[in-house]
Amino acid sequence: MLEANYHKILERIEAACVRARRKATEVTLIAVSKTHPPESVDALVRLGVRDFGENKVQEAKAKIPLCAGSIRWHGIGHLQTNKARDAVRLFSTIHSVDSLKLALELEKHAEAEARRVAILLETNVSGEGSKFGVAPEALNELALEVNGLPHLELQGLMTMAPFADDPEKARPYFRRLAGLKRELEQKLGASLPHLSMGMSGDFEVAIEEGATLVRIGTSLFGERKSGAFRRIGMDDS
Ligand SMILES: *Cc1c(COP(=O)(O)O)cnc(C)c1O
Repeated sequence: MLEANYHKILERIEAACVRARRKATEVTLIAVSKTHPPESVDALVRLGVRDFGENKVQEAKAKIPLCAGSIRWHGIGHLQTNKARDAVRLFSTIHSVDSLKLALELEKHAEAEARRVAILLETNVSGEGSKFGVAPEALNELALEVNGLPHLELQGLMTMAPFADDPEKARPYFRRLAGLKRELEQKLGASLPHLSMGMSGDFEVAIEEGATLVRIGTSLFGERKSGAFRRIGMDDS
């Protein structure tokens, strides 16, 4: 099932790239393995997947040592400052930086580990109170501050569109994020390589609007059940 799902998703990514006149190599699939066991990760690694996403530090800490192969792990969930040290050790890219306080904490631990961590700024384009992320009005200021931190490498923006049955409903939010990235690039005088947007329900629309990283869980692994790796992640937030 995993293999069939994976090939189906690759086909859908390619078709969305054709519609958007983009190269398929511009889009990286991040397999969101939260709640799923290391065996499922291994199976995808054998099929050639390199990028995996986890949303909870506790779960990632338990799972990552059990997964073989040269994997790039992406931290995609909300991060509390007291988890910054683990996050820096576990993830090559952190998608959910949304405050200077968190960025400073990541910088401190990255420096201690003599590492440079790629980060994205999570932006709350929908303005929904239930969503994490920096408000669009505060984005440029945060980006300028974060950009001065030597052990963090600002690579772009991330967002989550509001939940909707119709993927077209997500399009304005993705378009807005792409616009915010362009504005920010002007302010910084440098280009940012990544837009992390699109999940199982809306990744094709996200690709049409410029996504370079799509974070896909359910369409790849199937529905999330409460398994061992869900329990490990339970006390985390
Ligand atoms: C779980 C999760 C995803 C994947 O969601 P699916 O709908 O299962 O594809 C993507 N991004 C974040 C931040 C997540 O927490």
